Amino acid sequence: MFARQWDFLTSVTDMANLPPAAGTEIAFAGRSNVGKSSLINALTGRKGLARTSSTPGRTQMLNFFVAPETPLTIVDMPGYGYAQAPKELVEAWTNLVFSYLRGRPNLRRVILLIDSRHGIKKNDLEAMELLDKAAVVYQVVLTKADKIKPPALVRLIDETKAASAKRVAAHPEIIATSSEKNRGVDELRAELCNLATQ
Ligand code: GDP
Repeated sequence: MFARQWDFLTSVTDMANLPPAAGTEIAFAGRSNVGKSSLINALTGRKGLARTSSTPGRTQMLNFFVAPETPLTIVDMPGYGYAQAPKELVEAWTNLVFSYLRGRPNLRRVILLIDSRHGIKKNDLEAMELLDKAAVVYQVVLTKADKIKPPALVRLIDETKAASAKRVAAHPEIIATSSEKNRGVDELRAELCNLATQ
């Protein structure tokens, strides 16, 4: 069962301060404003757990959330693709994220969030390349599914599946979610539970 009680554990800006690797870690990644905080809050049932970002791209931190009664840790990775982000910030993102992806033994999967309104963009492809290179399994999860009409969503799921199938480390299943309408959230919870118990 998915834990009901989630807490903030720590935020880290460098590899030296990572919490001990215990249990199963699942990290969430995506462009700034993709709806990552909203989805983490919907999953955990705690509204203010992940901060919805008022200044996108500002914080280059990995945020760790834990549930005392489960061996699952959720990691909120810094959003990418913020248009005004200076070059150094993009480099800091890549360095921190890549070191984490490469070096974390208990990281089971990255949930790569894609905004249903936009589909996969250039910087999402760059993130996929990084994940392929790091050899971490990632799964595309669509956010804000309430924002597009059902036929367009079906098309988007098909296109996203096809795009994922071409990637080295991508998981083939796509989940469409809406934090606003609580859609796909149970399905994603079940997926994370499976990973934690395997
Ligand atoms: P983050 O920057 O990726 O953490 O994104 P946030 O969770 O802060 O969300 C960015 C914006 O998208 C906010 O205005 C949210 O209210 C909105 N949003 C997030 N999830 C959904 C959703 O499922 N449906 C709709 N319609 N809007 C959403």
